[in-house]
Amino acid sequence: MKSPSCATCGKPPVARYSPFCSLRCADADLGRWFGEVYRVPDTTADPDAMKGSDDEDGGVTG
Ligand SMILES: [Zn+2]
Repeated sequence: MKSPSCATCGKPPVARYSPFCSLRCADADLGRWFGEVYRVPDTTADPDAMKGSDDEDGGVTG
């Protein structure tokens, strides 16, 4: 039987803080998760600017 364990420290989780064993572990994991989410690379470039140039070059065929 596979029993779940705290994702932070590996201890048996507590129903109250499932799937973690304590609020501290839950908080620690959440903190890491949020940290990664908020550190998203800036890939919001101008798609229009790129498309405009590409369309003119590849639209001349036949
Ligand atoms: Zn834990």
